[in-house]
Parts: sequence; structure tokens; C-alpha cells
Amino acid sequence: MSKKKTEKQKWLGKVRWVFNRYIRLRDAVRGLEGLCGKCISCGATWLLMSPDDWKKYQAGHYWREDKYESVRFDERNVNGQCSKCNVYMSGNLAEYAEGLKKKIGARAFNALNIKRNKVHSHTVVELERAYRIYKKLLENKEAELGL
Ligand SMILES: [Zn+2]
Repeated sequence: MSKKKTEKQKWLGKVRWVFNRYIRLRDAVRGLEGLCGKCISCGATWLLMSPDDWKKYQAGHYWREDKYESVRFDERNVNGQCSKCNVYMSGNLAEYAEGLKKKIGARAFNALNIKRNKVHSHTVVELERAYRIYKKLLENKEAELGL
């Protein structure tokens, strides 16, 4: 394994962590009793109280991140999702598509579908930049939600 690859993998992991957490908080909704997770596919909402509630709340990709790197960190492609849909139903993609079209509109949905076919390999410089951006967005979101 070359040094460069190791460096890239390190940054991929760092971006992935802040990006996924930011997405989950972006999509969380305020309920009467507190912050709730919301699933883009089945529409389920549930209170985020215990670590288990949080574990059930994931950042689900519409186009798989391991196959479509061009949209791996595209905010349109990643949305709050319950673990049942994300893991046990492999994304529950038919319902995901419906939920996503409703959320971002048909035009953005089509643009995302075109972008996924672009061959793109993130450079370390791009990943470092993405990390700074999403770390900041995450901090702002956490402050806004009082976390
Ligand atoms: Zn779901």
C-alpha cells in the first residue's frame, strides 16, 4: 500500500465521520418531546434519547458510496434513514427515490442521477477541504440543536 493511499483513506474516514453526522442532524426533526430521527424511505420518526435510538439513525446513501464516488459526499445523495431501511432492506431504494424526489425536487433528482456516472476519485486536497467545511457545518448544527 502506497503512502498516498493511506493518507487518502485516513481523510476519507475523517470526512465520512463529520459528513454523516452532519447529514443526520440536518434531517433530524423537532418533536414535542425532543429531537427525532426521520427516515427518507419509510417516513418513520422516533425520539433520539438513548445510544440505541442514535444507532438506529443512519446516513443512508441513495447511490452506494463504494460504487459511486462522485456522489459519495453529495448532500443530495445522503439522507437520514432508519437502520431497518438502510441495512436490512438495502436502502429501501424504491421508497428512497420517492422520498428524495419529494424532498429535493425532480430536477435535482435527475441531476444527481447524471452526476453519479461521472468518474471521480477524491484527492487528499479535496478531502481536507471537505473535512473543514463539514466540521464547521456540524459544529454550527450541534450548537443550533443544543447538542
Ligand atoms: Zn425507514
